[in-house]
Amino acid sequence: MTTVIKHQKPSAFYDEFFRKGPGQKTTHYCPGCGHGVAHKLVAEAIDNLGIQDRTVFCSPVGCSVFGYYYFDTGNVQCSHGRAAAAATGVCRTLDEDRIVISYQGDGDLAGIGMGAIMHAANRGENLTVFFINNAIYGMTGGQMAPTTLLGQKTTTSPRGRTAENEGYPIHMSEVISQLEAPVFVERVTLGDAKGVMKAKRVVQKALQNQVEKRGFSFVEILSPCPIGWKMNSMDARHWITEKLEKIFPVGNLRDDTKEPAPVSIPRMKLTDEELIDLFKSGEVESVKAGSLLNEQLVKVAGFGGQGVMSASALLAKCAVAENRHATWLPSYGPEMRGGTANASVVISNEAIGAPVVETPNVLIAMNAPSLDLFEESVQPKGMVIVNSSLIERKVKRDDVNVMYVPATDIAIELGSVMTATIVALAVYAAASGAVSVETMQKMIPSSIKRKNLVDINLKAVEAGLKYYKEHYQK
Ligand code: SF4
Repeated sequence: MTTVIKHQKPSAFYDEFFRKGPGQKTTHYCPGCGHGVAHKLVAEAIDNLGIQDRTVFCSPVGCSVFGYYYFDTGNVQCSHGRAAAAATGVCRTLDEDRIVISYQGDGDLAGIGMGAIMHAANRGENLTVFFINNAIYGMTGGQMAPTTLLGQKTTTSPRGRTAENEGYPIHMSEVISQLEAPVFVERVTLGDAKGVMKAKRVVQKALQNQVEKRGFSFVEILSPCPIGWKMNSMDARHWITEKLEKIFPVGNLRDDTKEPAPVSIPRMKLTDEELIDLFKSGEVESVKAGSLLNEQLVKVAGFGGQGVMSASALLAKCAVAENRHATWLPSYGPEMRGGTANASVVISNEAIGAPVVETPNVLIAMNAPSLDLFEESVQPKGMVIVNSSLIERKVKRDDVNVMYVPATDIAIELGSVMTATIVALAVYAAASGAVSVETMQKMIPSSIKRKNLVDINLKAVEAGLKYYKEHYQK
């Protein structure tokens, strides 16, 4: 008699895996890859625990980046290495019954994401991390991973990893189990059927811990990558049991789940109204403003210490307060240590597609390097405001509207050189009408962090307006 075993797809999976088009039921993973097995274990555990409708699956960057095509749960696709940090955000934002899974490979978790996972574990977040260890970077073509074995050949360790040259493989489960907060740490294997059955129980246990609000659970899954290892599927399985498990022994490293007190992380509970208040750009009532004639693509540039960042952020906040769309994109870097710093501000009547300003129609140049750098990029008929206190030369272009404002001298006279950019900004506001000077004055008290500087910034606005009226108002 023949026994027919019917394999059922867990409900936690979508009926179709749309990644490859309608009607598809196969994943994007290579033949023999362990991700499909690991996914199925997770999906079955979700089914068994009845938590599908309250689970959020956080996918990493790596081969399993497309987890959201497979898991019929809430999904977040996280930036590289940050899944544990993103999962923390999900944990703390949703109500306490949510189940959050961070599913990460070794390059993602133990390479670029080492900081994020260590701190999530150390905080004892009530989440479950599944760590797929296949000792290689699969998606990007088989480079050495933090878990690559000594002697293992990869595209970036072609003669085999050596301790002297590349250091030792990192044992994440051992490291994490040494922290105080995690409650459950176990390493399992997909190398053989017995290992898979054990992994199934451990995966479910790790999720059960979260259901019981016990804290941080971490399951390392030794998983085959036949493509990266350049093996067939059977050899890849044998390589796990014969090589990988020798270096990364399977077994439980921590189980504090028998302790009586489940973890309860105090969470900030906010009403919708409080949240709206939190994200409001200021204490001011929004102002009705007329439509802008054209989208403002503003580049504010100068030395660090001239108030470039705070003034440009104020500009964006004023625009939002006037019910316009606005973005603010600061450009940091070595410039912040003495060179030129700049920020892009876009103000628009419509939703803004990109916050980057490459061809501004407004340039506020607070020092000579800024004018040198950005003058050519200004659109014809654009506006250029030059801090003539520090920039001796004239603007070379004759197709732009230029205003020379001794902003630094005015600011020094007021008593703070840091208000120079506010002076220039007031000139821009008065000349363009993109935001009103009154809105600037209303927004300054809530925007300036150091309250003793509020008055002097208000005076800087008045001084800029006065200069504009005396020299440029027609
Ligand atoms: S490269 Fe390796 S880990 Fe990535 S899908 Fe293929 S077999 Fe799986």
